[in-house]
Amino acid sequence: MINMSEEKKIRISKSLIKLILAAAKDIYPDEFVALLGGRKNLINEIIILPFISSGFGGILKTDVLPIGIKVRGTAHSHPTECLEPSDQDLEVFSRFGDVHIIVAYPFDENSWKCYDRNGKVLEVELVEE
Ligand code: ZN
Repeated sequence: MINMSEEKKIRISKSLIKLILAAAKDIYPDEFVALLGGRKNLINEIIILPFISSGFGGILKTDVLPIGIKVRGTAHSHPTECLEPSDQDLEVFSRFGDVHIIVAYPFDENSWKCYDRNGKVLEVELVEE
């Protein structure tokens, strides 16, 4: 029997999380910002927006998105150990998809959390794909 809640659970590529953590560490103490893509319940694509220089707030001003890519969510970093979304984060979350990753200092394998568009913690499954 298929467990429907398991079936609908968002799956995130392990290598994608690793890439976000590495990029965030690299750009620290600046903020790393990216959009997430994927198909169905699998998130395995990252869209890095090099023209955004004003941190996560810059994404709000963006009307130039890559053509043909369905934005599923966002990923960004905090230069602190705080993994909670700020008010500005919540505003961005509500506008760009339904899967939002925050990574925080020190950017190790446990320094990240995933939220839905309302800022509620999202249980996700890490996959090898
Ligand atoms: Zn934030």
